[in-house]
Amino acid sequence: MIRLTTETTQKAIEKCKQLKPKVKFIKDRLFVVYSANNSNVYHVRFDVKDGGKFGQCECRASEKGLVCYHLIAGATANIYRQSLKRAN
Ligand SMILES: [Zn+2]
Repeated sequence: MIRLTTETTQKAIEKCKQLKPKVKFIKDRLFVVYSANNSNVYHVRFDVKDGGKFGQCECRASEKGLVCYHLIAGATANIYRQSLKRAN
């Protein structure tokens, strides 16, 4: 899994803001992100270990160890979900 930090996510956040991909919640910490460029869909997973946030996507960028915009889209949805849970 790839560690999500301010540094590693910076470029992907910019791309995510531009492309605004659709995200669908599957189950706890698992999301499907629809590619903004084509008909591909990617499953993204998240984990929290040793106080750090980690994520994994199925696309080629993620295989290379890069944070892709799919991960950011999923992470944004994940944070939103967590905040809803807390509010209830
Ligand atoms: Zn990806």
